[in-house]
Amino acid sequence: MAWELRQAGIDCVVMNAPFMHRSSDVAGGLFNPLMFRKLRLSRMVGDLWPVMQSTYAAIEQSYNIKLLHDKLSVKLLSDSELSEWEQGQKKITAPYIHAIEKGMVVKGLKKTPALGYISSSGHLDIAGWLKVSQRDLAEKGRFFEQALLYEDLVISRDRIVVGKLLEARKIIFCEGAAAINNPWFQGDWLTPNKGELLEIRAHDLEEKHILRDDVFILPLGNQRFKVGATYSHDAINTQPTKEARNELIRKLERMISVSYEIVAHYAGVRPAIKDRMPVIGAYADRNNTFIFNGLGSRGVVWAPYCAKVLVKSLLFNNEPIPEILNIRRFSRWPY
Ligand SMILES: Cc1cc2nc3c(=O)[nH]c(=O)nc-3n(C[C@H](O)[C@H](O)[C@H](O)COP(=O)(O)OP(=O)(O)OC[C@H]3O[C@@H](n4cnc5c(N)ncnc54)[C@H](O)[C@@H]3O)c2cc1C
Repeated sequence: MAWELRQAGIDCVVMNAPFMHRSSDVAGGLFNPLMFRKLRLSRMVGDLWPVMQSTYAAIEQSYNIKLLHDKLSVKLLSDSELSEWEQGQKKITAPYIHAIEKGMVVKGLKKTPALGYISSSGHLDIAGWLKVSQRDLAEKGRFFEQALLYEDLVISRDRIVVGKLLEARKIIFCEGAAAINNPWFQGDWLTPNKGELLEIRAHDLEEKHILRDDVFILPLGNQRFKVGATYSHDAINTQPTKEARNELIRKLERMISVSYEIVAHYAGVRPAIKDRMPVIGAYADRNNTFIFNGLGSRGVVWAPYCAKVLVKSLLFNNEPIPEILNIRRFSRWPY
């Protein structure tokens, strides 16, 4: 959001609570254009992918770093999935099915009837991006590593005051799952979703591709991999659990045939929304109080797109935000 604001020439200050949970620190950072349960395109691929590619390319160029890593994903296909994927090669999913290979074995994976190679997939180095972005903002005096306390915040029609710290013309709440406590954007739209991941070391496992079946296996280099993720609406907290660990182990061992060791176990909370679409837009009729949230399990692809839509709305005098993204779809506020 901050990148997009600055690209548009809008000065902004970021307040970030250092010890609060950040889903972005846990995320696998994957992007994948296909959904597997029933083979279909991920929502709005045609709109989201070009914006994702061009935004991260611009960021990479600006900071001279590599963040977005295109990598083929390999889905292990059962017999029934194989025929579905062969059909998929003749449908709108076709551009994303790079190849289907029968009877091939990938190093370290159990043998399956076929493998489906997915293009336009990969992963973003989220940690790398946040580090660079924060450092840059801090050098410009635009990053405050402290919590925004709601009681310090005074929002009037023409200005925003944060205690003695700062004054601004507008505020955008980008709080992830913590938005559940936001006194302005109240409602039952946020349905936080807990997710857990393992980091493993495996010496004899393929590192060239992202491997996918019931879980993803993302190569990190040096024979390390992230394995994830779980989804749960119970006990929303950031504590890793034995149940999730066992679930991940069970699913991992259905995929791989080699030995491994677990080196880390992470848990996080996704800012998920009832209808699985992001929420952006203004609070009631205020054109100075905004939200940017609901990136769910797809922050990598949604963030650049939503940030662009919101900035456009700020710049061009409340240019309408599409209803499917607009927080208004959940609000009972007066307009
Ligand atoms: C296990 C797991 C795996 C995932 N894998 C993927 C994946 O592979 N691909 C993908 O695209 N997405 C993935 N996600 C989802 C992704 O993490 C989220 O979509 C994205 O990170 C959400 O970003 P966010 O900035 O909205 O929220 P967060 O990353 O949670 O950040 C919220 C920020 O707001 C700050 N904050 C909150 N309240 C305040 C306050 N009052 N004052 C100051 N600061 C405040 C917090 O400190 C935090 O820094 C995964 C999530 C999980 C849990």
